[in-house]
Amino acid sequence: MTTSNEGSIPRGNTECEVCGYILNQTELMLQRVNETPVCKAQECRVVLDQKTTMSSVVFQSHLNFQRKLILEKREKKRKRERYVEEIKASEEKENNDLLRSALTNPKVPIDRSTQVLAIPSGLVEISLLKSSRVKRYREHLRRVITEAVQLNNASEVVQDQYFNAYQKSLDVDKRLSANPKLRVLSDKLCTLCQGGCCSEGGDHAYIRTVTIRRYMDSNPELTTEEIFDGYVSKLSDKTVDSSCINQTDKGCALPRVLRSDVCNGFYCDSLKSYQKDYVTSDATPVLVIQRANTNWNRFDPDVENHIVNVEVIERG
Ligand code: SF4
Ligand code: SF4
Ligand SMILES: [Zn+2]
Repeated sequence: MTTSNEGSIPRGNTECEVCGYILNQTELMLQRVNETPVCKAQECRVVLDQKTTMSSVVFQSHLNFQRKLILEKREKKRKRERYVEEIKASEEKENNDLLRSALTNPKVPIDRSTQVLAIPSGLVEISLLKSSRVKRYREHLRRVITEAVQLNNASEVVQDQYFNAYQKSLDVDKRLSANPKLRVLSDKLCTLCQGGCCSEGGDHAYIRTVTIRRYMDSNPELTTEEIFDGYVSKLSDKTVDSSCINQTDKGCALPRVLRSDVCNGFYCDSLKSYQKDYVTSDATPVLVIQRANTNWNRFDPDVENHIVNVEVIERG
């Protein structure tokens, strides 16, 4: 039985000294007697840790300022979350209304088991490829090729946030190879979308050291110059504005074998969940609802997410 006060619940002080959050039972249990109450948020703990490094007057003014910042940041985050939920709910309602209305139209070849698949849109404005973009792309390629050539093989590349991309791309390929109809349908959807997920490819196209090193491992006869030229030669004279340098009006200019693992393994959430739940025996067409936003700016308040296209796509 505990006889000391250590570990017992402090009375009175139940709010975080920094943000004012009311501590829950678990947090109170972890609080020691005479310890200034603080919630589990790292930002609050960091502020409180500074108490011993300042005079009480200076700390009080620091605390007030940091409290204001923390509360403002949290409010902003809450607003953003509410906004995202509102967008999701209103789009879902609009999609369901559209499905219901399509079901009552005898000319639309769908039935009650038809699934709605919402996809974004790629950017479509085409213009002449700027020399400044080519310069940046060439520099990027030079850098990753130089890094790749210093390694013996792809397994030596330092792991980063895209480390799982290769395995993901293999898994995706395996799943699609086992379901050729699903591959055809996925390709149809991506063609319709025109690269809604490519808009962040910029002048790097997600080509990384590991992309190049893996390509070198599979093609040991190629020199670094040949690899560099192989990439640069695929650039089109005209590209999609503000999108990946390899995105053209006919899709990606890079053959799959030159693309990054990120590109080869990526499907947007909507397509990914459709692929995951795909049942081979089900032949019901899909009702595709395409919106104006790209895959990345759906929740950008400046972007209009209106419906730009509705199509019934046959499976396979
Ligand atoms: S994966 Fe999704 S966002 Fe990317 S091109 Fe295909 S449908 Fe569009
Ligand atoms: S390299 Fe191709 S697939 Fe990858 S982002 Fe660019 S256009 Fe899209
Ligand atoms: Zn707090």
